Amino acid sequence: MKILVTGGTGYIGSHTCVQLIDKGWQPVILDSLVNSKVSVIDRIESITGHRPPFIQGDVRDADLLGKLLLEHGIEAVIHFAGLKAVGESVAQPLRYYDNNVHGSVVLMQVMQQCGVKTMVFSSSATVYGHSSAPPWNEQVPTSPANPYGRSKLMVDHIMADVAAADATCAMTSLRYFNPVGAHPSGQMGEDPQGVPNNLMPYLSQVAVGRREALQIYGKDYNTPDGTGVRDYIHVNDLAKGHVAALAYSHERPGHHVFNLGSGIGHSVLDMLHAFGKACGRDLPYNFAPRRSGDLDAYWADPQHALNTLGWQVEKTIDDMCQDTWRWQSQNPNGYP
Ligand code: NAD
Ligand code: UDP
Repeated sequence: MKILVTGGTGYIGSHTCVQLIDKGWQPVILDSLVNSKVSVIDRIESITGHRPPFIQGDVRDADLLGKLLLEHGIEAVIHFAGLKAVGESVAQPLRYYDNNVHGSVVLMQVMQQCGVKTMVFSSSATVYGHSSAPPWNEQVPTSPANPYGRSKLMVDHIMADVAAADATCAMTSLRYFNPVGAHPSGQMGEDPQGVPNNLMPYLSQVAVGRREALQIYGKDYNTPDGTGVRDYIHVNDLAKGHVAALAYSHERPGHHVFNLGSGIGHSVLDMLHAFGKACGRDLPYNFAPRRSGDLDAYWADPQHALNTLGWQVEKTIDDMCQDTWRWQSQNPNGYP
């Protein structure tokens, strides 16, 4: 199967391309490089022995998309391309809606014109409302708290409408919990620009000496050790979830929604200690005030993905930290 991977040089997209190639499928990557580097393609080739075609461009460019779908004989799309910084989305909502929502609409329009019926989309657990007790299944009421989350939920709704209007379309929303980790080879991983917003990239930059100490946001949450609890999922498990979702949905039209998580919550201190074990030293940290908008604790109910896709996570938080450390120590400044 020939698959267009939008955002395929990004963190999750690049790991998914490796899994697609392992499965014998052929990814074709479209990425604007707004948040990634083209050298990722060399790493995909080095890991798999296969160099996927790469086109630099924007998903909002309908002419380019149309040419690409036809020239490459694309049969399905995995749509990762999007902006993902929550704080930035609050400051620049129109940029986020234009990129994430308008970009997805253009993509689906061009797919329709070209007769491409299958799409798997990067949605997020941030679409869920904040009032439900964990674990969160797919029926938890949605009520995202910021423009980023709302942009994801809008696309989920649009996909449902498209699938309802055309009974031959297969539209799948994957709601990720907290993707972390790196390829076990150490050749691919997360490479955020500037100061990382998220826990794992920040921790790994502390470990490699690029940052002084981790600030733990809040120590009085309603959790066993007082720090926030999340469901961390290894990026390779997540990538395999995309392969499973695509294999399933390509044969089954409709709108499908799956939570992709481990079903287990870990605290910030759990992650700090696991990372310390992986890199062989205790990592410095301070307690800081709570970060606005953060919740005490949530994790996935991944039963639907297990029952329907036969997918579940295989990796532990120790694997996540060891693989992140291998990537960070071999590539202290990220991709060239
Ligand atoms: P990433 O920034 O590493 O990858 C996204 C890629 O999309 C980048 O390479 C970027 O250059 C590209 N891109 C952005 N806008 C584009 C456009 N208009 N046209 C073409 N390319 C464009 O992010 P990631 O962590 O790999 O996330 C992938 C997707 O998963 C995103 O949609 C994100 O919102 C979603 N997601 C991520 C997380 C997470 O914690 N990483 C959690 C839930 C959902
Ligand atoms: N966190 C932290 N220090 C950091 C970054 C994050 O203590 O520098 C905490 C955050 O408060 C949350 C958890 O780590 O409890 C995961 O945060 P992240 O931003 O990685 O993901 P989120 O769950 O917010 O999407």
